Amino acid sequence: MSMPKVAVIGGSIGGLTAANVLRDIGCEVDVYERSPQLLSGFGTGIVVQPELVRYLLERAGSTLDDVSVSSSSMRYYDASTSRLQGEVDAGWRFTAYNAVYRKLLDAFGTERYHLGRALDRVRQTEAGPIIEFVEGPAATADLVVCSDGGGSVARSALLGVKPTYAGYVTWRGMVDRDEVSEATWEFFQDTFSYGLLPDSHIIAYPIPQADSDGRLTGNSRLNFQWYWNVSEGADLDALLTCSEGKRRSVSVHFDVLAEKNLAEFRNCASRELDGPFRELITAAARPFVTIVSDAEIDQMAFGNIVLIGDAAITPRPHAAAGAAKAASDAWSLATHLESASGNLAEALPAWESGQLALGRAYLAKVRAMAAVLQQGGDFPPGAPEYRFGLPKAP
Ligand SMILES: Cc1cc2nc3c(=O)[nH]c(=O)nc-3n(C[C@H](O)[C@H](O)[C@H](O)COP(=O)(O)OP(=O)(O)OC[C@H]3O[C@@H](n4cnc5c(N)ncnc54)[C@H](O)[C@@H]3O)c2cc1C
Repeated sequence: MSMPKVAVIGGSIGGLTAANVLRDIGCEVDVYERSPQLLSGFGTGIVVQPELVRYLLERAGSTLDDVSVSSSSMRYYDASTSRLQGEVDAGWRFTAYNAVYRKLLDAFGTERYHLGRALDRVRQTEAGPIIEFVEGPAATADLVVCSDGGGSVARSALLGVKPTYAGYVTWRGMVDRDEVSEATWEFFQDTFSYGLLPDSHIIAYPIPQADSDGRLTGNSRLNFQWYWNVSEGADLDALLTCSEGKRRSVSVHFDVLAEKNLAEFRNCASRELDGPFRELITAAARPFVTIVSDAEIDQMAFGNIVLIGDAAITPRPHAAAGAAKAASDAWSLATHLESASGNLAEALPAWESGQLALGRAYLAKVRAMAAVLQQGGDFPPGAPEYRFGLPKAP
């Protein structure tokens, strides 16, 4: 049996990993990405999990040092004073979205990576799946891999499931070396820092900078997120209303952040934080805000259409393995398809049951972490149940 022709919807980490591994087992693969230009991820940081960089290390000739920087500990502070509460040895590595994305794209090539192609509708017909785009001609394929992220159009069409707001947002920002004092810069080096507050938390870690080809430049910056509980309704509406007066649904980037929201962000840092945490947050020149939401489903395969990554189960970010889950969905799909010699009817059910179990277990883990981190629970240093990463395969 020959390998299926594949259309991948969404060309970020999940989509590109799927495109590469499916191409490697002999599938003819096209990627359709909504964005009209190559992605940037705003240069934000990602904690490296093995699944995230597996393709780059095993098949694209990269080393861990090519894509990430190392650290040696996790530190737990009271962010209101910047006083250390605990520390554990933990050798996490950190990368920048760009570094991983550009290298995955390099490995796939741009010839069959189609920008500006937003999925409008995908459906299974007797003749096979049909993919319709907002603009441009429809496409057909034997297998459609939908990796169109947390707001997945495909998931919404196939299951009617949309992400549910988790009750809090994350402020994200980056700070260059010359924007903070030497003492604050050093405070956040070589470690992953938690800044704990009664109903809120901050994370901060150094990330490498990558050039437009994904090569690390040797410079680094500090990357942070500060999670705020914000009630749905008037408070959330006010925060998500941008400077042009429009209420955004997911994210308000710095360029359109309302002045009063930026002022409140900085005032809140001055009021509630002290020491290096306060300096870090107030130094960020271009912070932006994103809602945290999640989505749970109990089906990932619909005939010859599958959902992977955030388009399937959308997790919250607390165990730093959402992109790794997307990559795991992709690798497992290729493994099952190869063992079934390209027979989709044989491969997809087995793939779906394993990855659904993994995704649901991961979602339960990050929800449990959110419950303690955002609602005043106990978050003991090094607690194994809150360790970063995907759960062991169930
Ligand atoms: C604040 C935060 C921090 C995180 N930190 C980490 C971390 O440290 N480690 C980690 O592993 N994960 C982390 N994650 C999770 C990670 O970002 C996601 O889980 C991961 O990006 C999912 O990859 P994906 O390819 O499934 O979806 P996405 O990366 O969301 O990509 C979806 C792609 O589909 C495209 N698209 C959307 N709609 C359409 C359409 N209609 N047609 C065509 N294309 C479309 C989008 O433009 C995008 O390129 C974090 C997430 C957040 C929010």
